[in-house]
Amino acid sequence: MIIPKKKFGQNFLKDESILNKIIESMPKSDNLIVEIGPGLGDLTKKLIERKKRVVAFEVDNDLCKYLKKNFSKEIESKNLTLICSDVLEKWEERLADERYDLVANLPYYIATKIILKALKDPNCETLTVMVQKEVALKFCAKEKDKNFASLSILANSICKTKILFDVDRESFYPPPKVTSSVLQMVKFKNYVKDLNEKEGVFDSYLEYEKFESFLKRAFFSPRKTLIKNLSKHYDKKKLEKFLKEQDLPLNIRPHELPLYLYHLLFKNI
Ligand code: SAM
Repeated sequence: MIIPKKKFGQNFLKDESILNKIIESMPKSDNLIVEIGPGLGDLTKKLIERKKRVVAFEVDNDLCKYLKKNFSKEIESKNLTLICSDVLEKWEERLADERYDLVANLPYYIATKIILKALKDPNCETLTVMVQKEVALKFCAKEKDKNFASLSILANSICKTKILFDVDRESFYPPPKVTSSVLQMVKFKNYVKDLNEKEGVFDSYLEYEKFESFLKRAFFSPRKTLIKNLSKHYDKKKLEKFLKEQDLPLNIRPHELPLYLYHLLFKNI
């Protein structure tokens, strides 16, 4: 018998109707599917039934043994590739060698880290993932929303983000402490300028990473002013000049500056 392990964030999704809803809301594509944390394989089974090729990463050796036994045919026919390892250790620049859609009920203790890795992974085209509701709200927040923060700006700069639906605690075994949401992110085409020199939000992946660090600095103390946070790293006079030119008050807080102005400021600074 498998006893859920708290240290691996194991809350198994047992509600058949929610599993079906996740499958139905997946983007239509022929991409490979990457699943992180297949657990007992309920979602994995449905993905393979949809004629999807799945690569699944599972850290728990007990679950891996269980999955190898229960999915022996699928593994043999190569519809399922099971990688028994910590996904974060395997994840260099790309988690798979081809374009993929990430579909998962994520382990909540590392959900944000995984999403940030997927955003940065050039081969990941879409994410349909179950996370804590508060994490989903942060990634989807738009300007003026109280959840608007560095994660929202980063995600909404390169993806169309959407909360598809919420899921009650009772749909899981054991029930988690918080409400969950299924979050979908579809990356824009050419969000990083491609080799054919097409326009992109960022000129390179390096520039994207620099923007990520810039946002971390801007939101370092979210209640302090934007200038206070950024002037530790950049010329204060330049920052003041920028805000004045935009007719914005010098005491503007990080969550009050709209997304497009973050890009303009980043390019100017
Ligand atoms: N997909 C299953 C379901 O929906 O019932 C299980 C989801 S459970 C919330 C999270 C899963 O992620 C567990 O199977 C857990 O063992 C696995 N996991 C946790 N940390 C991991 C890591 N670092 N790398 C790979 N898998 C991990």
